[in-house]
Amino acid sequence: MTTPHQSIFDALSAALGSDAVLDPGRVADRATSYWNPAPMQAAALVRPRTTAELSAVLKLCNERGQSVVTHGGLTGCVEGAISDSRDVIVSLERMNAIEEIDSIGRTATVQAGVALQKLQETVREQGLYFPLDLGARGSCTIGGNVATNAGGINVIRYGMMRQRVLGLEAVLADGRIVSSMNRMLKNNAGYDLKHLFIGSEGTLGIVTRVIVQLEEAPSSRNSAMLALDSFAQVTSLLRHVQKSLGGKLCAFEVMWGQYFHTVTAPGFHRAPMGRDHAFYVMLEAEGAQPEADQEGFLATMEQALEQQIAADVVIPGSETERRALWEIRENFQALYEHKPIFLYDVSLPIRDMDAYIREVQQRLKARWPDSICNVIGHIGDGNLHLFVHPGTEGEGLHKLADDDVYLPLQAIGGSISAEHGIGTEKCARLPISRSAIEIELMRTLKRTLDPGGILNRGKVVALQAADAA
Ligand SMILES: Cc1cc2nc3c(=O)[nH]c(=O)nc-3n(C[C@H](O)[C@H](O)[C@H](O)COP(=O)(O)OP(=O)(O)OC[C@H]3O[C@@H](n4cnc5c(N)ncnc54)[C@H](O)[C@@H]3O)c2cc1C
Repeated sequence: MTTPHQSIFDALSAALGSDAVLDPGRVADRATSYWNPAPMQAAALVRPRTTAELSAVLKLCNERGQSVVTHGGLTGCVEGAISDSRDVIVSLERMNAIEEIDSIGRTATVQAGVALQKLQETVREQGLYFPLDLGARGSCTIGGNVATNAGGINVIRYGMMRQRVLGLEAVLADGRIVSSMNRMLKNNAGYDLKHLFIGSEGTLGIVTRVIVQLEEAPSSRNSAMLALDSFAQVTSLLRHVQKSLGGKLCAFEVMWGQYFHTVTAPGFHRAPMGRDHAFYVMLEAEGAQPEADQEGFLATMEQALEQQIAADVVIPGSETERRALWEIRENFQALYEHKPIFLYDVSLPIRDMDAYIREVQQRLKARWPDSICNVIGHIGDGNLHLFVHPGTEGEGLHKLADDDVYLPLQAIGGSISAEHGIGTEKCARLPISRSAIEIELMRTLKRTLDPGGILNRGKVVALQAADAA
């Protein structure tokens, strides 16, 4: 039984049991996020066990106009899950069951709090494959992947989370449960409502259960790291492998030379090849015919050397060696030797990438001569990640760096977010990539589904200027 005069902590404890709710002191024992070790803040953190419990929580919060912030694995890069002492945090950590794997229809039904890696490993035991993959796989959750429309290293072949989701269940701000648990590939019966929630960063509803499309597990995987001396070689290599490997190419990850040099410095990763090339590419292909696939892959690599598209190639001889190569791309702890670091995630046409990065680096150097801008990217998807260290300390540096990274995108029709979303960090910059009508339509959807503006308030599109971060 709850009453309007109870504190939100007491009301939630009365509704769900005290075991399900943490007070501000226990909330502060947690770190804010993967990126931010500062103590987490909230009026209460609630851990529902079922969709019905979450529905009761949101109904209660909505009646009180209580702001709610949803937590998955807290690996998001744009402060989308940030909270303050007035917020109620909803953590999906107890909704972490894989409910069903249908090996004939090749689907999995999972609760939102399941970690991505747990799903990958569980379906692999049944000879199936969930191909969405990213560096945060051990911590990020399926709900978070849906909410951010996560991408990662296999998008070039398997698409983003949006292409993996067949159906989902979500709870609206007022507690109503939208069950859209479709498991069919084709369903054109009216609007496909799941897309409202995919990529909406928890602003339109909280995702509780998801049906995802699986694939047959590949029986061959071939990997290589290549060194290249110009961006023209990078684009030639991309075309060469797309043509030669056909649909088998699943990862084409580019590292700018300075990034590779930094993360392979003594004390960090071992460099498998010379450290002074202009670019490095980690690529991977998957198939169903191990011998023929390996033969074709090796021939493709040899041609790249013969045709002088690549300067050097390293092929891992074991899974351990393969993982060590991937660590160079995925574990960039070395970059954080210099702080602060501002992380960006932009997308733009591949043909404009080289000139764009040069322009950003020139702008940054003109502003801060000691600045460093390291770059990696899923370039086959038109997606670059920039790590900017201004080389100095002080107030307001992040916003100035944002200008240097985002403004050159306008002329080439790029996007300020390829895969991380908007969160609070990029809210004010949304007009760079979206028209006034698009933003107004987003506000209309927000007002319709969450008229009280309780869900992830001030994130993605602020309903009122006062809500903006
Ligand atoms: C090392 C590293 C590598 C990464 N690489 C990639 C990459 O290659 N590609 C990529 O796309 N991202 C990448 N990311 C970013 C991040 O992992 C993804 O955005 C991921 O999808 C976030 O999932 P999460 O569970 O951690 O969500 P959180 O960080 O907890 O939340 C992210 C947003 O989603 C909302 N949310 C979370 N769960 C739900 C839910 N159930 N319902 C509604 N809203 C919810 C939150 O409120 C927040 O706005 C990387 C992060 C790290 C740390």
